[in-house]
Amino acid sequence: MAPVAGALVRGRIRRCAGVDVWGGTANRGNEVKTAGRIFLYFISLQSVILGHLYVGAALLFGFAREFAYEPGLVPTAEWRDWMDKKCPYSMTIGRGIIYKQAVRDDDPEIIDTPLERHERKHIWQQEDCCFVADLIALLVFIMTGDVAAALAVWASGVLWLLMYFITAGLRFGDWSHEGLYRNAEHERSAYAQTDLPRVLGKSWEELRELHSTEGKGR
Ligand SMILES: [Zn+2]
Repeated sequence: MAPVAGALVRGRIRRCAGVDVWGGTANRGNEVKTAGRIFLYFISLQSVILGHLYVGAALLFGFAREFAYEPGLVPTAEWRDWMDKKCPYSMTIGRGIIYKQAVRDDDPEIIDTPLERHERKHIWQQEDCCFVADLIALLVFIMTGDVAAALAVWASGVLWLLMYFITAGLRFGDWSHEGLYRNAEHERSAYAQTDLPRVLGKSWEELRELHSTEGKGR
């Protein structure tokens, strides 16, 4: 893969303190967590492919710059100046992220900005959807022997998160772009987990992952 080679040549694999290349952290039994993350990578291959196509095309056609792999071998970039002005959001498509410039932080001593971690939550959500798509695709293949149908179900896993925008519209009746975005459950989850601490003094993610040494039972 050209982006992989390019990243290795330029040393553009971002390292975050205490986080290994697969995104495993030392907090809770690193080996177990890392093995699980590698498994998740391969069961969400459809989103791996889409993420590379998305970030690769954005770089190729001049929408984005500064390619780098982040933990979990997530291909990332940031919007070029003109896109940064135009596009109000960082965007995750498949297992690929393009950040707003102000969101991205290259300091290896900092475990990501809250909005970087927000986008990472969407990667996890993609993994969940793709895993279910894999299982249903397998079932379709076993029951029908139809390879094309099974492949279509497998590939469709990358689209399932879009359903949250539709259910958000139905639930709240606000079909504006902003309304769909703010009300979608996967966005609410990502914001709730990583937003700056407001009520408890720590975000959900800080309680669960980043600063937990004992970890269990919360
Ligand atoms: Zn989001």
